[in-house]
Amino acid sequence: MTPDALPDNPPSRGWDLHCHTVFSDGTETPETLVHAALEAGLLGVAITDHDTASGWQSAAKAAVQAGLPLLRGTEITAQFDRTSVHILAYQYDPQSPHIATMFKLTRQARLTRAKRMVERMSADYPITWQLVLDQVKEGGLTTVGRPHIADALVRAGVYRTRSEAFAGVVNARSRYYVPTPSPTAVEVVQTIREAGGVSVVAHPADASRNRVLLTDDHIRRLVDEGLDGLEVWHRGNSPEQRRRLLGLAHRYGLLATGGSDWHGEGKPNQLGENLTASDTVRSIVSRGAIGLVGGSLQQ
Ligand code: AMP
Ligand code: FE
Ligand code: FE
Ligand code: ZN
Repeated sequence: MTPDALPDNPPSRGWDLHCHTVFSDGTETPETLVHAALEAGLLGVAITDHDTASGWQSAAKAAVQAGLPLLRGTEITAQFDRTSVHILAYQYDPQSPHIATMFKLTRQARLTRAKRMVERMSADYPITWQLVLDQVKEGGLTTVGRPHIADALVRAGVYRTRSEAFAGVVNARSRYYVPTPSPTAVEVVQTIREAGGVSVVAHPADASRNRVLLTDDHIRRLVDEGLDGLEVWHRGNSPEQRRRLLGLAHRYGLLATGGSDWHGEGKPNQLGENLTASDTVRSIVSRGAIGLVGGSLQQ
């Protein structure tokens, strides 16, 4: 897409390019995601679980059955200096060795880290590692995260909801918090590129996730490595930040995407609350290593 063709406003019809399922910290299956997307009148949907492609097969099967086009993606955990960064990777080859190894390492690091958080909490709260594992819906295929710890605390009666737990001891500012050791954003963008995928920085300016946001210079350095886009339309980006991100997208010829960050019942975010235009999805598909499944692109 040429920079001039970049839409300045989110589309009223389109795709939701940021959705989680039981293969990470969402509460619903890929089948439910596809059916909910169809019901919501979306033109298509992307599955983007954290640090895994394990949900792709179920999602693709459901998309074919429903006749709804599906983008296959992953939200990859990274860091850049002191900032925690999530990078959405779309349409890459999941067999590419570096990306597969990266997921394996991050998922292992997430487990160790979650266990350490639970150990710390267990001194003060009625939580065990087993109770956390009981909240994991797809066993070893699920990427474990803080939401599973939050669900265990709900199960133990400490909090009423996942969000309440996130406002309490599960929060990144709590004394029980342990960060996940992650690859750098530069490494992640390079690895996505090597796997033939399309890279988009997720919620690049979400002030609730970071004390220090990614700077313009950080983004320029990712562009130098082959970054494809920015998730401009996400509830975590303020209107002022959206204008800044759109300015950067224009300057560097980046794609501007939108997504809800749907987690089913796990978060208030509504499926389709932020959308991506069909033309943008067309660019993603044309750049990616794998094809669209479930249907073709509509305007
Ligand atoms: P982790 O990746 O293990 O550090 O956990 C962070 C994940 O928790 C992110 O994917 C968020 O989507 C999710 N999360 C953050 N805040 C909340 C909240 N208030 N309620 C539910 N999930 C949340
Ligand atoms: Fe999540
Ligand atoms: Fe994220
Ligand atoms: Zn997400």
